[in-house]
Amino acid sequence: MSDDQVRFSLNETDLPRFWYNVNADNPVAPAPVLHPGTKEPVTPDFLSVLFPMELIQQEISTERYIEIPEEVREIYKLWRPTPLMRARRLEKALGTPAHIYYKYEGVSPSGSHKSNTAVAQAYYNKMAGTKALTTETGAGQWGSALSMACQFFGLDLEVYMVRVSYNQKPYRRILMEVNGAQVFASPTDRTNAGRAALEQNPDTPGSLGLAISEAVEVAAMSNNTKKYSLGSVLNHVLLHQTVIGEEALKQMDMAGEYPDVVVGCVGGGSNFSGLAFPFIRQNLREGARTRLLAVEPTASPTLTKGIYAFDYGDSARMAPIVKMYTLGHDFVPPAIHAGGLRYHGMAPALCSLYDAGHIEAVAVKQADVFDAAVQFTRTEGILPAPESAHAIRAAIDEALAAKALGEKRVILFNLSGHGHFDLTAYQEYLSGSMTDSSYPDEAVQNIKDHLPEISLDAVP
Ligand SMILES: *Cc1c(COP(=O)(O)O)cnc(C)c1O
Repeated sequence: MSDDQVRFSLNETDLPRFWYNVNADNPVAPAPVLHPGTKEPVTPDFLSVLFPMELIQQEISTERYIEIPEEVREIYKLWRPTPLMRARRLEKALGTPAHIYYKYEGVSPSGSHKSNTAVAQAYYNKMAGTKALTTETGAGQWGSALSMACQFFGLDLEVYMVRVSYNQKPYRRILMEVNGAQVFASPTDRTNAGRAALEQNPDTPGSLGLAISEAVEVAAMSNNTKKYSLGSVLNHVLLHQTVIGEEALKQMDMAGEYPDVVVGCVGGGSNFSGLAFPFIRQNLREGARTRLLAVEPTASPTLTKGIYAFDYGDSARMAPIVKMYTLGHDFVPPAIHAGGLRYHGMAPALCSLYDAGHIEAVAVKQADVFDAAVQFTRTEGILPAPESAHAIRAAIDEALAAKALGEKRVILFNLSGHGHFDLTAYQEYLSGSMTDSSYPDEAVQNIKDHLPEISLDAVP
């Protein structure tokens, strides 16, 4: 490479042919997934109400590599391989000896990494004869990605959008509607879960957990051609995102460097895992020693303050019970701008690796996140999604720590999306009216009271 190279680009022919399944190498056996009613391990039959069989098989697979179907790769080519950039101007502004790299997923048509799994899920549903999908969306990125994918494969789509985002982000809704989706502000009066929530509090801002309940209920109550699709948390979603890390490994090689630390923001854990898991494989199998750092908001600090326990995936207790770090399924986080990071739980595969010490986590404050976002925009020219800006904050903190120690540290972070639909948040920040909210410490004491009681017999 030349001394001042900033962009490390792969060709279309370098597009990965396989997804990487971390469960092949995870030293910790996965905990069983439990039925929300019986609290016994679920059968594929129960899951098949919601998902096509191919995705259920990926969910429980321990095969190391799973081939990416040609139809999916053809669509990936619209934006993949994504660029890996060296943030030289940011490095200079920080005066750090650290080298900062980022993988930019905002070049996808919907503006985030979520298209990587949306296309795969729409494809497997289409192949299985599904006619329509239901889903939830927080900030709207997932809904935008899935609406594009459904359009490509001729599937109908119903989106339950968390009310606070529906109101704050009308443009995301319009984008979904242009792609042919039907979008509802959740809670709605279309489902039992939604009606119960509205009865309790007609002004509720909604939550991702509740929107999931609504989308799951609609799919579960329908005939078998309407299925449910989730944009994060599940193993098959994390699997589909590993194209990010596989490409990044090749691109770091082009740069002639290897990361000391890999950073990503975490909501349900998919963009972080997509970048980090191939590097964890190199740690576990090849003796590499990269640190993996997950970054979350202090307002929804699942890994840093939550507890590791069995909990429902949604607030109305319709979704399966999984073992994960959780703040309690009925936790309603403050309405921070990073809507995609407000989930009460976290991907079980990521949680088991965190619990075993293979992954680190840190929580950062909203105002500090926007300081970092604005500094990044002014140096690198890209206005990041508020979610992604959490990773930028932590990457900058790593670079400043390296500076204080006079150490050359190679930092790689995932820039999971752009923030062009989040300008209201930036306006609030610039006008000085942005507030911060942290998860109250007392609440940690109470999480246990909000978890399902699981008999240990149910857990082999
Ligand atoms: C949805 C979203 C996230 C959070 O979800 P993960 O599953 O944790 O990746 C982060 N960044 C962007 C841009 C998103 O759209």
